[in-house]
Amino acid sequence: MAAYDYDLFVIGGGSGGVRAARVAAALGKRVAIAEEYRFGGTCVIRGCVPKKLYVYASQFPEHFADAAGYGWTVPEASFDWPTLVANKDKEIARLEAIYKKNVEGSGGETFHSRAVLVDTHSIYLVAEDRTVSADQILIATGGRPAPHPALPGHEYCIFSNEAFDLKELPKAIMIEGGGYIAVEFANIFHGLGVDTTLVYRGQEILSRFDMDLRRSLHETMERKGIRILCHAVSESVRKTPEGKLDAQLTTGETLTVDQVMLAIGRIPNTENMGLEGVGVELSKTGAIVVDKYSRTNVDNIWAIGDVTHRVQLTPVAIHEAMCFVETAFKDNPTAPDHDTIPTAVFSQPEIGTVGLSEDDAIERYPDVEVYRASFRPMRHTLSGRDEKMLIKLVVDGVSRKVIGAHILGPDAGEMAQLLGIPLKAGLTKDDFDRTMAVHPTAAEELVTMYKPTYRVKNGERV
Ligand code: NDP
Repeated sequence: MAAYDYDLFVIGGGSGGVRAARVAAALGKRVAIAEEYRFGGTCVIRGCVPKKLYVYASQFPEHFADAAGYGWTVPEASFDWPTLVANKDKEIARLEAIYKKNVEGSGGETFHSRAVLVDTHSIYLVAEDRTVSADQILIATGGRPAPHPALPGHEYCIFSNEAFDLKELPKAIMIEGGGYIAVEFANIFHGLGVDTTLVYRGQEILSRFDMDLRRSLHETMERKGIRILCHAVSESVRKTPEGKLDAQLTTGETLTVDQVMLAIGRIPNTENMGLEGVGVELSKTGAIVVDKYSRTNVDNIWAIGDVTHRVQLTPVAIHEAMCFVETAFKDNPTAPDHDTIPTAVFSQPEIGTVGLSEDDAIERYPDVEVYRASFRPMRHTLSGRDEKMLIKLVVDGVSRKVIGAHILGPDAGEMAQLLGIPLKAGLTKDDFDRTMAVHPTAAEELVTMYKPTYRVKNGERV
């Protein structure tokens, strides 16, 4: 093995790559990692972390308004976008340094360079103009926003990457897409005072979630003042003489806005890195094909995270990294477990969800019990805000297992994390029922819904 410069070379310094590098280095392996942009990857630099900071920023106007019912008089507030961007930059620079330091602190070597495979054991470091060798190679180059070359005027559009660093806050924005990113950014921009329109091609936003949550979130967002146009797609984007953008929709409507943001999915970063040359198999969408242990068709080359197009979530990439280290370096073959992944959409209100939606459960189980509570959260009694919280459990009527838990409301993401444990453990509704409530909380509804709201037997609601 000493014939190689490294035991492991990781390409891509995002959440997955850094975790694998750090843990393998801590085992005493000779590890190096190359990142061409910034350590931290999408999540830290232009994804989850700055997004959540912007979500917080966008919530203040509602907090100020809600304060009145509690006796507070809040003077007229003003918002400064450059301050938010600058403070966000400071925070991600801090995190970036920590990511890099964590690898180096564990004994790994870091390179700021693009890395290209030369053969199955050699990597060319572009910035250093030299080739290094490694026994095992891990590709963790993530993904990027899907472009939309078929859209005339796509060159005027921005993606989530640019949205974080706009020179000025637009007065009006159109966002295309109905997934996590489109919905989260629609709420962020609206909260910051931007006239926001969401344009989605399907019947209802957030196609992979429980329909109850989708409809309730849609209604709440519209009540706040976000326009949502479903069954609509943009046909062209043109620049007007005034410097604005005219987005022509399939509905016949033209939206005149300052920015058009496309959030229509993400694609894997696999181009121009020598993968084809060394024979690594790619899927039709350009993702790296891996087996259940994250190994590619080339024996010593592995891939984890968004570049493999399994589940595009940071904690999943990190989990895959840990499993990879077990398999490749600890003689303990471990396949990542992608079942029952809790997830949150940081919309306003938030969505937190784990397990099967009601519709998916009905397709798979002959007898489904649905427990559903919709109520005004306590904090909105005095604030007067007309916003409901939705809590829903989907239960297999035969085994009594809770197979889906869906929440729309404040702190739903935090609740989804905790609900991930009983659902993963396969606990039953009876286990929920014998758990003491915490009062007064919204989450207590999870353990106090004793009677099903309705049952669905063989597809029929009874
Ligand atoms: P998603 O896959 O969530 O959503 C893509 C959306 O774009 C869908 O509504 C899709 O419609 C629509 N779409 C796709 N192609 C077109 C097209 N050609 N024209 C018009 N609309 C189109 O992707 P996102 O970009 O929102 O996010 C990427 C991934 O990043 C997510 O899947 C998620 O895994 C991750 N992420 C996670 C977050 C979190 O954990 N909170 C936050 C942000 C991102 P349809 O539904 O009809 O397919």
